[in-house]
Amino acid sequence: MNNVFLSCVLVLTASLLSTCSAQDEATHVEAPAVLDTTAQVNKSEEEWREALPHMACFVLREKGTERAFSGDYWDHHEKGQYCCAGCGQALFDSDHKFESGTGWPSFFQPAEGTAVLEKEDDSWGMRRVEVTCAACGGHLGHVFEDGPRPTGLRYCINSAALKFTSDSTSTPGIRYD
Ligand SMILES: [Zn+2]
Repeated sequence: MNNVFLSCVLVLTASLLSTCSAQDEATHVEAPAVLDTTAQVNKSEEEWREALPHMACFVLREKGTERAFSGDYWDHHEKGQYCCAGCGQALFDSDHKFESGTGWPSFFQPAEGTAVLEKEDDSWGMRRVEVTCAACGGHLGHVFEDGPRPTGLRYCINSAALKFTSDSTSTPGIRYD
């Protein structure tokens, strides 16, 4: 007997008998195996601590800042996407990266306008604009208005908050000999 078919019949039967029991059946449906990175990611701070390397957790969850010139991506020049180290959301594109000389990976715009959120941050006696991942709320860095054209913006992002995915690994079958 096909179990999926059987449970469909059961749910259907239950919904015919009573809407309340149909509701109960629905809560037992398992979550899809494919991770939907566009969905809001909600984890407890404890779960984040277990899931993330120390430095990624320090930056993403505690709004920490890595030392300049210490991260993996300030001097990184491959073509590809920089995704959130917390949830995998695509945040920045290598086409928008530039040499800022600051020691942190710098971009003049996000991959998409909706990928990151920006809000005023008055900590450390400075007025800055904090940049967070729109999907999981993780702290990424700050955005300043001294970037290059065309936007004039400089998204100053911690390497530890990012995970790079190379374009060449996302297009299997193409060889570059
Ligand atoms: Zn994220």
